[in-house]
Amino acid sequence: MAELEHVCFSYGAERALDEVSLRVERGDILGVIGPNGSGKTTLLRVLLGLLRPSCGHVRLFGTEVAAFRQWQRVGYVPQKAAFDARFPAAVSEVVISGRSGRAGVGRRFSAADREAARRALEVIGLTSLRDRRIGELSSGQQQRVLIARALASGPELLLLDEPTVGVDVDAQEDFYSLLRRLNHEEGVTLILVSHDIGFVTQEVSRLACLNRSLVFHGSPEEAVRSGALAEMYRTDSWVVAHRH
Ligand code: ADP
Repeated sequence: MAELEHVCFSYGAERALDEVSLRVERGDILGVIGPNGSGKTTLLRVLLGLLRPSCGHVRLFGTEVAAFRQWQRVGYVPQKAAFDARFPAAVSEVVISGRSGRAGVGRRFSAADREAARRALEVIGLTSLRDRRIGELSSGQQQRVLIARALASGPELLLLDEPTVGVDVDAQEDFYSLLRRLNHEEGVTLILVSHDIGFVTQEVSRLACLNRSLVFHGSPEEAVRSGALAEMYRTDSWVVAHRH
């Protein structure tokens, strides 16, 4: 569904990605972890065609990203944006705006658009908040609204950048069970940038450890066993919160 092959990217003289290669298969949950500044956000932006790599190839659904046009197949939830409490849009309006890629800017939303938005809110469990102003919601709820917005276009691949920063622990657990449901029941393939090593080592099917170059790419168990995590974070121990 997504593939990077020997991808490099530099901001001026500063190299942010160095010869990164990885593949995401249908049904995967790929966790991308790495220290601050290790290139995680850059990797997502390169995958989305927002940044053009200086070397290598990026493909989405088998097509070079520069030629890729089926953007309704890909959802992106950027790092948390805090909405001002006075921001005038209702939750349902934010969610249906996720359909504008399909509808075309300026075209009125159809019954199918409204139905897709309704269903996205239902999947996310926010139907009861549909008429509330987004700025009045908690940051965890706002984050869910942004995911519903991404889901409204019916993506097969969803990219999430640090989705739980600033979200309290209980809301995080709800959020992770939502991601599991999206993957298992709705069949959405996920790429998740995260600082939460506890989650990624338990829940993802593949792990990419990034430090400008790819330090490790494989199963989470192998990452722990091989010492890749300890090496990357230069530590022998970290706290893992288990759900059980
Ligand atoms: P991460 O998401 O892992 O924290 P980023 O991809 O944001 O890392 O950044 C990787 C490196 O690129 C960092 O050293 C950062 O300072 C640099 N960088 C990111 N965005 C820009 C930019 N717009 N201009 C210049 N340097 C940038």
